[in-house]
Amino acid sequence: MPPPAKPGSGPGPLNKVNWEDFRDHIATADAEGRRRWLYPTRPRGRYYRTRTRLTWLLLAVMFSGPFIRIHGNPVLMMNIVERKFSVLGVLFWPQDNLVFALGLLLFLTGIAIFTAAFGRLWCGWTCPQTVLMEMVFRKIEYFIEGDSVQQRVLDRSPWTAPKIAKKAAKHAIFFGLSFLIGNTLLSYIVGSDSLRQIITDDPRQHLAGLGFMLLFTLIFYGIFARFREQACTFICPYGRFQSTLLDENTIVVAYDYKRGEKREHQHHGESLNRRSARGAGDCIDCFRCVSICPTGIDIRNGTQMECVNCTACIDACDEVMDKVGRPRGLIRFASLNGIEKGEPIRVTPRILGYGALLVALGVGLTFLLLTRSEVDVTLLRAPGGLFQATPAGKISNLYQLRLTNKTQQRKPVELRLSNIDGFLTVLGGDLNLPPERQTEAMVLVEIAPERLASGNTPVIVDVFCSGKRVDRIRTIFIGPRK
Ligand code: SF4
Ligand code: SF4
Repeated sequence: MPPPAKPGSGPGPLNKVNWEDFRDHIATADAEGRRRWLYPTRPRGRYYRTRTRLTWLLLAVMFSGPFIRIHGNPVLMMNIVERKFSVLGVLFWPQDNLVFALGLLLFLTGIAIFTAAFGRLWCGWTCPQTVLMEMVFRKIEYFIEGDSVQQRVLDRSPWTAPKIAKKAAKHAIFFGLSFLIGNTLLSYIVGSDSLRQIITDDPRQHLAGLGFMLLFTLIFYGIFARFREQACTFICPYGRFQSTLLDENTIVVAYDYKRGEKREHQHHGESLNRRSARGAGDCIDCFRCVSICPTGIDIRNGTQMECVNCTACIDACDEVMDKVGRPRGLIRFASLNGIEKGEPIRVTPRILGYGALLVALGVGLTFLLLTRSEVDVTLLRAPGGLFQATPAGKISNLYQLRLTNKTQQRKPVELRLSNIDGFLTVLGGDLNLPPERQTEAMVLVEIAPERLASGNTPVIVDVFCSGKRVDRIRTIFIGPRK
Protein backbone atom coordinates (compact mmCIF):
# COMPACT_ATOMS: atom_id res chain seq x y z
CA MET A 1 0.00 0.00 0.00
CA PRO A 2 1.54 3.43 -0.98
CA PRO A 3 2.35 5.84 1.88
CA PRO A 4 -0.13 8.72 2.30
CA ALA A 5 0.78 11.82 0.30
CA LYS A 6 1.95 14.89 2.19
CA PRO A 7 -0.69 17.60 2.47
CA GLY A 8 -0.53 19.89 -0.51
CA SER A 9 1.53 17.43 -2.61
CA GLY A 10 -1.38 16.09 -4.67
CA PRO A 11 -4.20 13.66 -4.05
CA GLY A 12 -4.18 12.31 -0.54
CA PRO A 13 -5.84 12.66 2.86
CA LEU A 14 -7.11 16.15 3.62
CA ASN A 15 -6.02 18.07 6.67
CA LYS A 16 -8.57 17.97 9.45
CA VAL A 17 -10.40 21.27 9.85
CA ASN A 18 -9.86 22.92 13.20
CA TRP A 19 -13.35 24.29 13.89
CA GLU A 20 -12.02 26.25 16.86
CA ASP A 21 -9.77 28.30 14.58
CA PHE A 22 -11.69 30.85 12.52
CA ARG A 23 -8.84 30.92 9.99
CA ASP A 24 -9.30 27.23 9.21
CA HIS A 25 -12.78 27.48 7.70
CA ILE A 26 -15.17 30.02 6.27
CA ALA A 27 -17.77 31.42 8.62
CA THR A 28 -20.70 30.47 6.41
CA ALA A 29 -19.98 26.74 5.99
CA ASP A 30 -20.83 23.92 8.37
CA ALA A 31 -18.79 20.80 9.16
CA GLU A 32 -20.19 19.05 6.07
CA GLY A 33 -19.19 21.98 3.88
CA ARG A 34 -22.80 23.02 3.36
CA ARG A 35 -23.70 26.66 3.30
CA ARG A 36 -24.88 28.12 6.59
CA TRP A 37 -27.72 30.50 5.71
CA LEU A 38 -27.30 33.79 7.55
CA TYR A 39 -30.08 35.56 9.40
CA PRO A 40 -28.40 38.82 10.46
CA THR A 41 -30.26 40.78 13.09
CA ARG A 42 -31.86 44.01 11.90
CA PRO A 43 -29.27 46.79 12.49
CA ARG A 44 -30.03 50.08 14.16
CA GLY A 45 -27.93 52.91 15.52
CA ARG A 46 -26.12 56.06 14.45
CA TYR A 47 -23.95 54.50 11.73
CA TYR A 48 -26.94 52.66 10.31
CA ARG A 49 -28.93 55.89 10.16
CA THR A 50 -26.07 57.61 8.33
CA ARG A 51 -25.77 54.68 5.94
CA THR A 52 -29.51 54.86 5.27
CA ARG A 53 -29.24 58.55 4.35
CA LEU A 54 -26.26 57.85 2.13
CA THR A 55 -28.15 54.98 0.53
CA TRP A 56 -30.95 57.28 -0.60
CA LEU A 57 -28.40 59.51 -2.27
CA LEU A 58 -26.58 56.60 -3.90
CA LEU A 59 -29.78 55.01 -5.15
CA ALA A 60 -30.88 58.32 -6.63
CA VAL A 61 -27.55 58.61 -8.47
CA MET A 62 -27.52 54.94 -9.49
CA PHE A 63 -31.01 54.88 -10.98
CA SER A 64 -30.99 58.34 -12.53
CA GLY A 65 -27.41 58.17 -13.95
CA PRO A 66 -28.32 56.95 -17.44
CA PHE A 67 -31.29 59.33 -17.73
CA ILE A 68 -29.75 62.62 -16.53
CA ARG A 69 -28.10 64.42 -19.40
CA ILE A 70 -25.39 67.04 -19.59
CA HIS A 71 -25.08 68.71 -23.02
CA GLY A 72 -27.44 66.02 -24.27
CA ASN A 73 -25.22 63.13 -23.14
CA PRO A 74 -25.80 60.80 -20.17
CA VAL A 75 -23.92 61.46 -16.93
CA LEU A 76 -22.52 57.94 -17.20
CA MET A 77 -22.83 55.54 -20.10
CA MET A 78 -20.68 52.57 -21.14
CA ASN A 79 -22.16 51.79 -24.55
CA ILE A 80 -20.05 48.78 -25.45
CA VAL A 81 -22.23 47.97 -28.47
CA GLU A 82 -21.65 51.31 -30.20
CA ARG A 83 -18.25 51.74 -28.49
CA LYS A 84 -19.34 55.10 -27.08
CA PHE A 85 -18.70 56.15 -23.49
CA SER A 86 -19.99 59.15 -21.63
CA VAL A 87 -18.58 60.46 -18.36
CA LEU A 88 -20.19 63.56 -16.88
CA GLY A 89 -21.70 64.33 -20.28
CA VAL A 90 -18.39 64.18 -22.19
CA LEU A 91 -18.33 61.56 -24.92
CA PHE A 92 -15.31 59.31 -25.30
CA TRP A 93 -14.56 57.00 -28.20
CA PRO A 94 -12.35 53.92 -28.52
CA GLN A 95 -9.73 56.23 -30.06
CA ASP A 96 -9.34 57.82 -26.62
CA ASN A 97 -7.55 54.70 -25.45
CA LEU A 98 -4.78 56.64 -23.69
CA VAL A 99 -7.36 58.61 -21.71
CA PHE A 100 -9.03 55.30 -20.76
CA ALA A 101 -5.73 53.70 -19.76
CA LEU A 102 -4.72 56.66 -17.59
CA GLY A 103 -8.24 56.95 -16.14
CA LEU A 104 -8.15 53.27 -15.23
CA LEU A 105 -4.73 53.64 -13.60
CA LEU A 106 -6.00 56.65 -11.69
CA PHE A 107 -9.04 54.68 -10.55
CA LEU A 108 -6.94 51.71 -9.41
CA THR A 109 -4.46 53.95 -7.60
CA GLY A 110 -7.37 55.74 -5.96
CA ILE A 111 -8.71 52.38 -4.77
CA ALA A 112 -5.27 51.39 -3.48
CA ILE A 113 -4.80 54.61 -1.53
CA PHE A 114 -8.33 54.54 -0.18
CA THR A 115 -8.03 50.90 0.89
CA ALA A 116 -4.60 51.42 2.46
CA ALA A 117 -6.04 54.30 4.49
CA PHE A 118 -9.60 53.14 5.24
CA GLY A 119 -9.74 49.42 4.54
CA ARG A 120 -12.90 48.12 2.93
CA LEU A 121 -15.04 51.14 3.72
CA TRP A 122 -16.13 51.36 0.08
CA CYS A 123 -17.60 47.83 0.35
CA GLY A 124 -19.81 48.47 3.33
CA TRP A 125 -20.96 51.96 2.52
CA THR A 126 -21.02 52.57 -1.22
CA CYS A 127 -20.60 49.34 -3.18
CA PRO A 128 -23.84 48.75 -5.15
CA GLN A 129 -23.87 45.09 -4.04
CA THR A 130 -23.91 45.97 -0.33
CA VAL A 131 -26.12 49.02 -0.74
CA LEU A 132 -28.76 47.02 -2.61
CA MET A 133 -28.43 43.87 -0.52
CA GLU A 134 -28.32 45.34 2.96
CA MET A 135 -30.25 48.56 2.52
CA VAL A 136 -32.91 47.51 0.00
CA PHE A 137 -33.46 43.74 -0.29
CA ARG A 138 -32.69 43.01 3.37
CA LYS A 139 -35.06 45.77 4.52
CA ILE A 140 -37.82 44.29 2.39
CA GLU A 141 -37.10 40.91 3.92
CA TYR A 142 -37.30 42.34 7.45
CA PHE A 143 -40.55 44.05 6.54
CA ILE A 144 -42.20 40.89 5.19
CA GLU A 145 -40.65 38.12 7.27
CA GLY A 146 -39.63 39.96 10.43
CA ASP A 147 -36.30 40.10 12.23
CA SER A 148 -33.71 37.34 12.44
CA VAL A 149 -35.58 35.10 14.90
CA GLN A 150 -38.90 35.29 13.03
CA GLN A 151 -37.11 34.49 9.78
CA ARG A 152 -35.52 31.37 11.28
CA VAL A 153 -38.87 30.25 12.68
CA LEU A 154 -40.59 30.89 9.34
CA ASP A 155 -37.99 28.92 7.40
CA ARG A 156 -38.28 25.94 9.72
CA SER A 157 -42.07 25.97 9.82
CA PRO A 158 -44.19 23.85 7.45
CA TRP A 159 -45.50 25.32 4.20
CA THR A 160 -48.74 26.87 5.40
CA ALA A 161 -50.77 29.45 3.47
CA PRO A 162 -49.33 32.46 5.39
CA LYS A 163 -45.78 31.21 4.80
CA ILE A 164 -46.44 30.69 1.09
CA ALA A 165 -47.98 34.18 0.89
CA LYS A 166 -44.97 35.78 2.61
CA LYS A 167 -42.40 33.95 0.52
CA ALA A 168 -44.32 34.62 -2.70
CA ALA A 169 -44.65 38.32 -1.90
CA LYS A 170 -40.97 38.61 -1.02
CA HIS A 171 -39.74 36.84 -4.13
CA ALA A 172 -42.16 38.70 -6.39
CA ILE A 173 -40.84 42.02 -5.06
CA PHE A 174 -37.25 40.76 -5.33
CA PHE A 175 -37.86 39.74 -8.94
CA GLY A 176 -39.47 43.08 -9.78
CA LEU A 177 -36.60 44.99 -8.21
CA SER A 178 -34.07 42.80 -10.01
CA PHE A 179 -35.87 43.61 -13.27
CA LEU A 180 -35.54 47.32 -12.46
CA ILE A 181 -31.85 46.97 -11.59
CA GLY A 182 -31.21 44.84 -14.68
CA ASN A 183 -32.84 47.47 -16.89
CA THR A 184 -30.82 50.22 -15.24
CA LEU A 185 -27.61 48.30 -15.90
CA LEU A 186 -28.70 47.75 -19.49
CA SER A 187 -29.31 51.47 -19.94
CA TYR A 188 -25.80 52.14 -18.61
CA ILE A 189 -24.51 49.81 -21.30
CA VAL A 190 -26.60 50.68 -24.35
CA GLY A 191 -27.92 54.10 -23.34
CA SER A 192 -31.40 55.06 -22.17
CA ASP A 193 -32.62 55.81 -25.72
CA SER A 194 -31.77 52.31 -26.89
CA LEU A 195 -33.41 50.85 -23.80
CA ARG A 196 -36.59 52.78 -24.61
CA GLN A 197 -36.52 51.36 -28.13
CA ILE A 198 -36.05 47.83 -26.78
CA ILE A 199 -39.09 48.27 -24.57
CA THR A 200 -41.38 50.04 -27.05
CA ASP A 201 -40.45 48.55 -30.47
CA ASP A 202 -41.58 45.27 -31.91
CA PRO A 203 -39.87 42.65 -29.66
CA ARG A 204 -38.72 40.69 -32.72
CA GLN A 205 -36.37 43.57 -33.59
CA HIS A 206 -34.63 43.46 -30.21
CA LEU A 207 -34.27 39.80 -29.34
CA ALA A 208 -30.67 40.27 -28.13
CA GLY A 209 -31.61 43.29 -26.00
CA LEU A 210 -34.58 41.46 -24.47
CA GLY A 211 -32.37 38.43 -23.87
CA PHE A 212 -29.88 40.56 -21.92
CA MET A 213 -32.74 42.18 -20.02
CA LEU A 214 -33.90 38.76 -18.86
CA LEU A 215 -30.34 37.56 -18.18
CA PHE A 216 -29.50 40.59 -16.01
CA THR A 217 -32.79 40.23 -14.14
CA LEU A 218 -32.10 36.57 -13.38
CA ILE A 219 -28.51 37.28 -12.34
CA PHE A 220 -29.54 40.06 -9.94
CA TYR A 221 -32.42 38.01 -8.59
CA GLY A 222 -30.03 35.08 -8.01
CA ILE A 223 -27.51 37.33 -6.26
CA PHE A 224 -29.92 39.13 -3.96
CA ALA A 225 -32.32 36.27 -3.24
CA ARG A 226 -29.77 33.45 -2.81
CA PHE A 227 -26.11 34.22 -3.39
CA ARG A 228 -25.95 37.28 -1.13
CA GLU A 229 -22.82 37.78 1.02
CA GLN A 230 -20.93 35.19 -1.02
CA ALA A 231 -20.53 37.81 -3.76
CA CYS A 232 -18.35 39.77 -1.29
CA THR A 233 -16.59 36.87 0.39
CA PHE A 234 -15.93 34.56 -2.60
CA ILE A 235 -16.30 36.44 -5.86
CA CYS A 236 -15.35 40.09 -5.54
CA PRO A 237 -11.70 40.56 -6.63
CA TYR A 238 -11.44 43.74 -4.57
CA GLY A 239 -12.12 41.72 -1.42
CA ARG A 240 -9.21 39.37 -2.23
CA PHE A 241 -6.97 42.21 -3.30
CA GLN A 242 -7.47 44.32 -0.18
CA SER A 243 -5.51 41.97 2.09
CA THR A 244 -2.34 43.03 0.25
CA LEU A 245 -3.09 46.71 0.89
CA LEU A 246 -3.95 46.79 4.56
CA ASP A 247 -1.29 47.35 7.18
CA GLU A 248 -1.21 48.04 10.90
CA ASN A 249 -2.02 51.72 10.32
CA THR A 250 -5.10 51.14 8.17
CA ILE A 251 -8.34 52.31 9.74
CA VAL A 252 -10.74 49.38 9.90
CA VAL A 253 -13.70 48.27 11.96
CA ALA A 254 -11.82 46.74 14.88
CA TYR A 255 -12.54 45.15 18.22
CA ASP A 256 -10.50 46.65 21.07
CA TYR A 257 -9.33 43.36 22.54
CA LYS A 258 -7.27 45.12 25.19
CA ARG A 259 -10.42 46.62 26.58
CA GLY A 260 -12.76 43.75 25.79
CA GLU A 261 -10.85 40.71 27.06
CA LYS A 262 -11.39 38.64 28.97
CA ARG A 263 -14.90 38.08 27.72
CA GLU A 264 -17.29 37.27 30.49
CA HIS A 265 -21.06 37.28 30.73
CA GLN A 266 -22.54 40.04 32.83
CA HIS A 267 -24.01 38.71 36.05
CA HIS A 268 -27.38 40.08 36.99
CA GLY A 269 -27.01 43.18 39.22
CA GLU A 270 -23.21 42.92 39.26
CA SER A 271 -21.37 46.23 39.71
CA LEU A 272 -18.60 47.30 37.33
CA ASN A 273 -16.07 47.11 40.17
CA ARG A 274 -16.99 43.53 41.01
CA ARG A 275 -16.86 42.67 37.33
CA SER A 276 -13.35 44.06 36.89
CA ALA A 277 -12.30 42.47 40.19
CA ARG A 278 -12.98 39.05 38.70
CA GLY A 279 -10.78 39.95 35.70
CA ALA A 280 -13.59 40.44 33.17
CA GLY A 281 -13.11 42.86 30.31
CA ASP A 282 -15.80 45.06 28.74
CA CYS A 283 -17.03 42.38 26.35
CA ILE A 284 -20.01 40.63 27.91
CA ASP A 285 -19.90 37.91 25.22
CA CYS A 286 -23.46 38.67 24.17
CA PHE A 287 -22.78 37.79 20.52
CA ARG A 288 -24.79 40.79 19.28
CA CYS A 289 -21.86 41.83 17.06
CA VAL A 290 -21.77 38.33 15.54
CA SER A 291 -25.49 37.85 15.05
CA ILE A 292 -25.81 41.18 13.28
CA CYS A 293 -22.90 40.64 10.88
CA PRO A 294 -24.10 40.24 7.26
CA THR A 295 -21.01 38.18 6.40
CA GLY A 296 -21.32 35.91 9.44
CA ILE A 297 -17.94 36.62 11.03
CA ASP A 298 -16.91 37.35 14.59
CA ILE A 299 -15.04 40.65 14.50
CA ARG A 300 -13.55 39.82 17.90
CA ASN A 301 -11.23 37.39 16.10
CA GLY A 302 -9.52 40.37 14.49
CA THR A 303 -9.57 41.98 11.04
CA GLN A 304 -10.79 39.46 8.49
CA MET A 305 -11.06 39.45 4.73
CA GLU A 306 -14.84 38.92 4.92
CA CYS A 307 -15.44 42.14 6.88
CA VAL A 308 -16.97 44.74 4.58
CA ASN A 309 -16.71 47.53 7.17
CA CYS A 310 -20.48 47.93 7.25
CA THR A 311 -20.30 49.10 10.90
CA ALA A 312 -23.41 47.15 11.94
CA CYS A 313 -21.35 45.53 14.73
CA ILE A 314 -20.23 48.97 15.98
CA ASP A 315 -23.85 50.05 16.38
CA ALA A 316 -24.80 46.76 18.04
CA CYS A 317 -21.92 46.87 20.51
CA ASP A 318 -22.42 50.57 21.30
CA GLU A 319 -25.99 49.77 22.27
CA VAL A 320 -24.75 46.98 24.56
CA MET A 321 -22.14 49.26 26.11
CA ASP A 322 -24.82 51.87 26.78
CA LYS A 323 -26.88 49.25 28.58
CA VAL A 324 -24.02 47.97 30.77
CA GLY A 325 -22.77 51.47 31.53
CA ARG A 326 -19.41 51.25 29.75
CA PRO A 327 -18.10 53.75 27.20
CA ARG A 328 -18.99 53.20 23.57
CA GLY A 329 -16.31 52.15 21.07
CA LEU A 330 -15.38 48.63 22.17
CA ILE A 331 -15.80 47.98 18.46
CA ARG A 332 -14.88 51.09 16.51
CA PHE A 333 -12.99 52.51 13.56
CA ALA A 334 -9.35 52.13 14.59
CA SER A 335 -5.97 50.92 13.34
CA LEU A 336 -4.14 47.95 14.81
CA ASN A 337 -1.43 50.30 16.06
CA GLY A 338 -4.13 52.49 17.57
CA ILE A 339 -5.51 49.59 19.57
CA GLU A 340 -2.22 47.89 20.47
CA LYS A 341 -0.03 50.92 21.11
CA GLY A 342 -2.55 53.75 21.46
CA GLU A 343 -0.98 55.48 18.45
CA PRO A 344 -3.01 58.26 16.82
CA ILE A 345 -4.13 57.95 13.21
CA ARG A 346 -1.23 59.01 10.98
CA VAL A 347 -0.35 59.41 7.34
CA THR A 348 2.25 56.75 6.53
CA PRO A 349 5.01 57.03 3.89
CA ARG A 350 3.11 54.40 1.86
CA ILE A 351 0.02 56.60 1.73
CA LEU A 352 2.18 59.58 0.78
CA GLY A 353 3.77 57.51 -2.02
CA TYR A 354 0.38 56.43 -3.36
CA GLY A 355 -0.81 60.03 -3.03
CA ALA A 356 2.12 61.33 -5.10
CA LEU A 357 1.39 58.74 -7.78
CA LEU A 358 -2.28 59.70 -7.72
CA VAL A 359 -1.43 63.39 -8.21
CA ALA A 360 0.98 62.56 -11.08
CA LEU A 361 -1.65 60.45 -12.83
CA GLY A 362 -4.28 63.15 -12.23
CA VAL A 363 -2.01 65.77 -13.82
CA GLY A 364 -1.34 63.44 -16.78
CA LEU A 365 -5.03 62.78 -17.29
CA THR A 366 -5.91 66.46 -17.07
CA PHE A 367 -3.25 67.24 -19.67
CA LEU A 368 -4.63 64.56 -21.98
CA LEU A 369 -8.18 65.82 -21.57
CA LEU A 370 -7.19 69.42 -22.23
CA THR A 371 -5.17 68.53 -25.32
CA ARG A 372 -7.58 65.90 -26.59
CA SER A 373 -8.12 66.38 -30.35
CA GLU A 374 -11.57 67.49 -31.43
CA VAL A 375 -11.64 65.26 -34.47
CA ASP A 376 -10.18 61.81 -34.75
CA VAL A 377 -9.17 60.56 -38.20
CA THR A 378 -8.28 57.08 -39.42
CA LEU A 379 -7.19 56.56 -43.03
CA LEU A 380 -6.50 53.00 -44.13
CA ARG A 381 -5.87 51.51 -47.53
CA ALA A 382 -8.96 49.80 -48.93
CA PRO A 383 -8.57 46.05 -48.29
CA GLY A 384 -7.17 44.11 -51.25
CA GLY A 385 -6.71 47.23 -53.38
CA LEU A 386 -3.49 47.88 -55.26
CA PHE A 387 -3.51 50.72 -57.81
CA GLN A 388 -5.34 51.64 -60.98
CA ALA A 389 -4.37 53.64 -64.04
CA THR A 390 -6.98 56.29 -64.83
CA PRO A 391 -8.00 57.34 -68.41
CA ALA A 392 -6.27 60.68 -67.69
CA GLY A 393 -2.97 58.87 -67.28
CA LYS A 394 -2.81 59.11 -63.50
CA ILE A 395 -2.34 56.38 -60.91
CA SER A 396 -5.07 56.07 -58.29
CA ASN A 397 -5.30 54.41 -54.87
CA LEU A 398 -8.43 53.90 -52.77
CA TYR A 399 -8.53 54.46 -48.97
CA GLN A 400 -11.10 54.00 -46.20
CA LEU A 401 -11.67 57.10 -44.10
CA ARG A 402 -13.22 57.17 -40.64
CA LEU A 403 -13.80 60.51 -38.91
CA THR A 404 -15.03 60.98 -35.35
CA ASN A 405 -16.30 64.36 -34.24
CA LYS A 406 -15.82 64.34 -30.44
CA THR A 407 -17.27 67.79 -29.92
CA GLN A 408 -20.82 69.02 -29.54
CA GLN A 409 -20.55 71.31 -32.56
CA ARG A 410 -20.73 70.54 -36.26
CA LYS A 411 -17.17 70.40 -37.65
CA PRO A 412 -16.26 70.98 -41.32
CA VAL A 413 -13.22 68.87 -42.18
CA GLU A 414 -10.89 69.11 -45.15
CA LEU A 415 -8.15 66.69 -46.27
CA ARG A 416 -5.11 67.88 -48.21
CA LEU A 417 -2.12 66.06 -49.69
CA SER A 418 0.83 67.81 -48.15
CA ASN A 419 4.04 66.23 -49.44
CA ILE A 420 3.15 65.51 -53.06
CA ASP A 421 1.11 67.04 -55.89
CA GLY A 422 -2.05 65.11 -56.64
CA PHE A 423 -5.81 65.01 -56.25
CA LEU A 424 -7.69 63.82 -53.18
CA THR A 425 -11.41 63.17 -53.61
CA VAL A 426 -13.80 62.10 -50.84
CA LEU A 427 -16.42 59.70 -52.24
CA GLY A 428 -19.88 59.48 -50.72
CA GLY A 429 -19.19 61.10 -47.39
CA ASP A 430 -20.22 64.35 -45.78
CA LEU A 431 -17.16 66.02 -44.31
CA ASN A 432 -19.31 68.55 -42.51
CA LEU A 433 -19.29 66.31 -39.44
CA PRO A 434 -22.37 66.26 -37.21
CA PRO A 435 -21.64 66.62 -33.48
CA GLU A 436 -20.51 63.50 -31.60
CA ARG A 437 -20.87 61.21 -34.57
CA GLN A 438 -18.66 58.94 -36.59
CA THR A 439 -18.58 59.30 -40.37
CA GLU A 440 -17.12 56.87 -42.87
CA ALA A 441 -16.24 57.52 -46.50
CA MET A 442 -13.93 56.33 -49.27
CA VAL A 443 -11.06 58.53 -50.44
CA LEU A 444 -9.58 58.41 -53.93
CA VAL A 445 -6.04 59.74 -54.37
CA GLU A 446 -4.73 60.33 -57.89
CA ILE A 447 -1.08 61.14 -58.59
CA ALA A 448 0.81 61.53 -61.85
CA PRO A 449 3.18 58.54 -62.40
CA GLU A 450 6.26 60.75 -62.81
CA ARG A 451 5.83 62.03 -59.23
CA LEU A 452 5.87 58.55 -57.76
CA ALA A 453 8.78 56.48 -56.58
CA SER A 454 9.06 52.89 -57.79
CA GLY A 455 6.52 50.73 -55.89
CA ASN A 456 5.54 52.41 -52.61
CA THR A 457 5.53 56.18 -52.18
CA PRO A 458 5.06 57.72 -48.70
CA VAL A 459 2.13 60.12 -48.68
CA ILE A 460 1.18 62.64 -46.00
CA VAL A 461 -2.44 63.77 -45.62
CA ASP A 462 -3.12 66.82 -43.46
CA VAL A 463 -6.52 67.12 -41.80
CA PHE A 464 -7.90 70.62 -41.38
CA CYS A 465 -10.86 71.49 -39.22
CA SER A 466 -12.29 75.01 -39.31
CA GLY A 467 -9.10 76.09 -41.07
CA LYS A 468 -6.78 74.64 -38.38
CA ARG A 469 -4.66 71.55 -38.88
CA VAL A 470 -5.82 68.95 -36.33
CA ASP A 471 -4.05 65.81 -37.54
CA ARG A 472 -1.37 64.56 -39.93
CA ILE A 473 -1.66 61.05 -41.36
CA ARG A 474 1.17 59.15 -42.97
CA THR A 475 0.26 56.40 -45.39
CA ILE A 476 1.56 54.60 -48.47
CA PHE A 477 0.58 55.12 -52.10
CA ILE A 478 1.17 52.06 -54.23
CA GLY A 479 2.29 52.57 -57.83
CA PRO A 480 3.91 50.57 -60.61
CA ARG A 481 7.52 49.42 -60.21
CA LYS A 482 9.88 51.30 -62.51
S1 SF4 B 1 -21.49 43.19 20.98
FE1 SF4 B 1 -19.77 44.01 22.16
S2 SF4 B 1 -20.11 43.13 24.15
FE2 SF4 B 1 -21.37 41.91 22.81
S3 SF4 B 1 -20.05 40.22 22.19
FE3 SF4 B 1 -19.76 41.81 20.67
S4 SF4 B 1 -17.98 42.93 21.42
FE4 SF4 B 1 -18.74 41.75 23.14
S1 SF4 C 1 -17.56 42.50 11.23
FE1 SF4 C 1 -18.83 44.29 11.60
S2 SF4 C 1 -18.24 45.75 10.05
FE2 SF4 C 1 -17.43 43.77 9.44
S3 SF4 C 1 -19.00 42.96 8.06
FE3 SF4 C 1 -19.45 42.17 10.09
S4 SF4 C 1 -20.88 43.65 10.98
FE4 SF4 C 1 -19.96 44.61 9.21
